[in-house]
Amino acid sequence: MFITFEGGEGAGKSTQVRLLQQHLATVVPPGRTVMTREPGGTPGAEAVRDFLLFGKQDLSLRAETLMHFSARYDHVDHLIRPALEGGKIVISDRFTDSTEAYQGYGRGEGNEAILSLIASLRQQTGVIPDLTFILDVPRAVARERLHARGNRPDRYEAATEAFHARVAEGFATIARREPGRCITIDATLPPDTVARAIAGHVAARLPM
Ligand code: C5P
Repeated sequence: MFITFEGGEGAGKSTQVRLLQQHLATVVPPGRTVMTREPGGTPGAEAVRDFLLFGKQDLSLRAETLMHFSARYDHVDHLIRPALEGGKIVISDRFTDSTEAYQGYGRGEGNEAILSLIASLRQQTGVIPDLTFILDVPRAVARERLHARGNRPDRYEAATEAFHARVAEGFATIARREPGRCITIDATLPPDTVARAIAGHVAARLPM
């Protein structure tokens, strides 16, 4: 089973990924869950992440989009697909929806090219998320959380408010288009309330 978490920065994805893994550790045998993230997840893809988020060079938008997919192929080929084939539950902090929302909507690549890249990836690898949680928080709340966290802002976090609004619109569009896979979660609620809601949705789909 492949579960992905999506949403803008400051929505609490990493916390929820961790809480879901802790919860699953109490209901499935040890070692059955694998937690990972994008961009990144494998040594090669993490090197691409570093370049994309903190590199000094600006890439053309198309090149940036393909770099995200290049990292993703490594991640899928070396980690996600083998784990799924081994019967594991894989939980990823971001996956293809982020590319559609950030590069497609946020940066303006449009989603036609990205949807075709997603279709190729699905066709070539057979890897499609079974369940995607889109964590939704108003930008003002996200900004406060990021400020409180005091993390090193990457190039996307430093982007304009209009950019973040387009990204949010992208995620909302994806959620409407694929309601069978995507569940939008109100992530302004306390983390343990959000975690309980997520655990309930996962339990309903978990093959026992
Ligand atoms: O979720 P996380 O904070 O680890 O994401 C790292 C950064 O990469 C974020 O600023 C996110 O907005 C950005 N990103 C992106 N395009 C993607 C995936 C992530 O701009 N396809």
